[in-house]
Amino acid sequence: MTTGVVIDRRYMDHDMGAHHVESPDRIDVLARMLEDDPPVPYRPIPPRPATDEELAGVHEKGYIDLIRSTAGKIVPMDGDTTAGPRTWETALLAAGGLLEAVDRIMDGSVRNAIALVRPPGHHAEASRAMGFCFFNNAAVAAEHLVRRHGAKRVLIVDWDLHHGNGTEHAFYERRDVMYFSTHQAPLYPGTGSSRFFGHGEGFGYNLNVPLLAGKGDADFLHVFERILAPVAAQFEPDLILSSAGFDIAAGDPLGGMEVTPAGFGRMTASLMAMAERTASGRLALVLEGGYDLAALRDGVREVLKALAKSDGPPSEQRGDSPLSPSLLVELEEPLRTFRQRWELP
Ligand SMILES: [Zn+2]
Repeated sequence: MTTGVVIDRRYMDHDMGAHHVESPDRIDVLARMLEDDPPVPYRPIPPRPATDEELAGVHEKGYIDLIRSTAGKIVPMDGDTTAGPRTWETALLAAGGLLEAVDRIMDGSVRNAIALVRPPGHHAEASRAMGFCFFNNAAVAAEHLVRRHGAKRVLIVDWDLHHGNGTEHAFYERRDVMYFSTHQAPLYPGTGSSRFFGHGEGFGYNLNVPLLAGKGDADFLHVFERILAPVAAQFEPDLILSSAGFDIAAGDPLGGMEVTPAGFGRMTASLMAMAERTASGRLALVLEGGYDLAALRDGVREVLKALAKSDGPPSEQRGDSPLSPSLLVELEEPLRTFRQRWELP
């Protein structure tokens, strides 16, 4: 059993212009790290394009056709999101890359995996591209797990700097896919209040933890181990998907968080321990944001080291840096909300 990695230089074919932070260089720096200095042995997983039917689990048919119609052209979709001549095929390959990772985990050929893809996905709505995203890779994979693999419960953990509005909306009234997000607030896209806790059948299955800027490793680990881990143990997911954004790294040009490369490794180890409890270790991460190239590269390297240590104990070190002074106050409202449905200490 091993760790799978999806990466492909075709992910560089989507290009939103010379000065856009969501640039092809993000894949280049990761591909070079894996070619020149791979931190651990891993199994390469070749991506494939997602099918219309797979995308239609989350996206409206007319929207899929709209993105298809941008092939070969330059079409602005939103203020910060532009489809270029090869965006359609690259976006299909991004969604399909995560689907392949999930399929290799489910057929037992790898234990866990990370899909290093672009364009990212978590802002993409059923019928709207926004926030550098076209198709919602994580949501499409969660739906695929339910429909194709018969998963009863899927947990999506979104640690990107930004709230994954698209993923929240995709499953807001469902209890088979839980969405848990940490995100800087206030910040784009403006959604993600802890009051949005799901609706109807889904009440209690959408958990938002908005955080002020300045949070570091100890803060994120606190949220993961004191809030997410007990909820995950009660929810009992069959697989954990993670929208892994490296824009919470110290130095990221879009964010104000302070996570170190080691912190990303420890967050991954924490998710692995949760996956071990109820999901036989099944964990698939997908790249979302992360715009400081060195921080992205170093963060992914530590995530890979953690994933490959799948038989070792999870990192227990904690508290070597103190919690941010305001963290516990900031967590009061989310905890009050979450206790309506989940047992939390
Ligand atoms: Zn982001």
